[in-house]
Amino acid sequence: MTQQLGTDQATASPDALLVVKAGTLVDGTGAAPRRGVQVYVRDGRIVDVGSGGDVPSDAHVLDHSAYSVVPGLIDCHVHLAFSAGPNPLADLLVEDDGTLLLHAAANARTALAAGITTVRDLGDRAGVVRVLRDAIGRGVVPGPRILTAGSPITITGGHCHFLGLEADSEDDVRQVARMQLRDGVDCLKIMATGGRMTPGTNPQLPQYTVEQVKAAVEEARRAGVTIAAHALSADGIRVAAEAGVDTVEHCNWLARPGSDGLAFDESTAELMCTNGVAFDPTLTPVQGSLSMPDGNLSDVQRAALAIRVELLGVFRRMLELGVTMVAGTDAGTRRSTLDKLPGEIGLYVEQLGLTPVAAIATATGTAARVLGLADEVGTIQAGRRADLTVVDGDVSADIAALGRTRAVIQGGRLVGEHGRLLT
Ligand SMILES: [Zn+2]
Repeated sequence: MTQQLGTDQATASPDALLVVKAGTLVDGTGAAPRRGVQVYVRDGRIVDVGSGGDVPSDAHVLDHSAYSVVPGLIDCHVHLAFSAGPNPLADLLVEDDGTLLLHAAANARTALAAGITTVRDLGDRAGVVRVLRDAIGRGVVPGPRILTAGSPITITGGHCHFLGLEADSEDDVRQVARMQLRDGVDCLKIMATGGRMTPGTNPQLPQYTVEQVKAAVEEARRAGVTIAAHALSADGIRVAAEAGVDTVEHCNWLARPGSDGLAFDESTAELMCTNGVAFDPTLTPVQGSLSMPDGNLSDVQRAALAIRVELLGVFRRMLELGVTMVAGTDAGTRRSTLDKLPGEIGLYVEQLGLTPVAAIATATGTAARVLGLADEVGTIQAGRRADLTVVDGDVSADIAALGRTRAVIQGGRLVGEHGRLLT
């Protein structure tokens, strides 16, 4: 008997056939949207995607034929252990590791409720996000799939040194990378330049040589994981691109000390294409500053706002040159809660000129490919895990629909409705 299911029935028999009816399906590959599609799920995985046709009489049905269905979203840059309050750095410096773990658990709930079923965490302390990842995996608490980088690799006193992983020489970098991998991280993060969040570091200058970053890249490759590089300046981006990291975070192209503005270099962008280096623009934190009165802005926020328009032009040029872009929010930092990814993707449409379908790919199919998860998540295709986000409206025409979460399906289980978790 075909039946409309509430929560209990949808979760009661995981091995039964589940059919999710989609009014509009954006499958995450960048392909054109499809209308009136049915996604067939068994044992937590997608087994088929078809148009119309009969639904087997013993199937359970989730009827979202009035809505849009997209792959569960992937945020490529979050900090689950950060408070997302007005001053996350001050919070971090006074809070103990247990409190950071509680922030992480709460932030993970927020992400999942917003239809974000995978996150890459690019900086915690004392491995607290690894603890959360494993607890989510065992079903102790709800949350998205987590790839954690643990503490980022930085120079002594360098950007985010307070997260506890300082390394200066090539050998030191190699050793701390191996220690992180021994302790069970899923990816690595290295600070290629200073950062605005850390007083005393210089965002305009590289922290490492190409050889030093390459040492971390080699260790990532040996372990079969990916590596992200934080880089705010053109020189730092060049180092990261030459070393062959997987993603450049923020990618701000700041000029050298003494010069204001940016120093975009097309040859570096072309090298990113050649070496398969993607970028992650993290527009969300600065977007939050746009609506604040000038008197409330910090120097750091003012500096980021000053380059905003020029930077958006550079990002558009990078896309024209064929550099791969993935979606990340830097959520957890100042006033950036873990539900900001739909808004970030909206900015790619409004400010970088992507179509809604192309923008969604940066947080689904393309993100999964760049993070090494393409066989598991990111697209609505047979064989992939059934992580599906249902949103209210036609998301292929109106990207704002992505923020109106109707239902969240994780591994074939309905876990959220109307922006709230069911558990
Ligand atoms: Zn970050």
